[in-house]
Amino acid sequence: LCRTLGLLKPDITANPVFLRQVLAQIHDHPTLGIVHQKAVQWSAQDAQSFYAEHRGKFFYQRLCDYMTSGPFMALILEGPEAIRNWRNLIGPTHPIRARLSQPHTLRAQFGLTDTRNSFHGSDSIDTALREIKFFFPELQL
Ligand code: ATP
Ligand code: ADP
Repeated sequence: LCRTLGLLKPDITANPVFLRQVLAQIHDHPTLGIVHQKAVQWSAQDAQSFYAEHRGKFFYQRLCDYMTSGPFMALILEGPEAIRNWRNLIGPTHPIRARLSQPHTLRAQFGLTDTRNSFHGSDSIDTALREIKFFFPELQL
């Protein structure tokens, strides 16, 4: 059993119809389950700290603006191979490309642009632990 951190970014969280459709698709996944969820509103400092690895990249300011534009949902997802299964469900980083290669994925269905790609998923066990602690510091791990 494995846990990962997922984000439903501000554009999804602001749209009740999309949010309901996304939660239904997660619910329909054979092994992934949501074990904790909370709404988050980031300050500029929160965004800069979470995305520190991207500082200096051309999309960094856009990314921080997007992620502070409104509330978003943080999820802890659990199941066998949860890290890989959640990333497979959300699909490739770039939604327009995802529409060609993997049209069933969440980013292909809902993503807007390279930056506003609507979802995040931890990419390794170490990252998942760090990101779960970042969003759910109150949980005993
Ligand atoms: P992956 O690891 O598959 O690339 P990710 O979502 O973990 O996916 P990161 O590389 O960690 O992506 O980038 C974090 C976020 O920065 C992305 O989810 C996206 O919102 C934005 N981003 C990444 N690459 C680009 C890009 N080339 N142009 C614009 N925005 C980008
Ligand atoms: P948004 O910021 O609207 O969410 P994107 O992240 O897709 O959308 O950014 C789109 C802008 O970034 C466009 O102006 C595009 O020309 C520019 N852009 C895309 N890729 C690159 C790149 N590799 N280097 C510099 N600018 C880029």
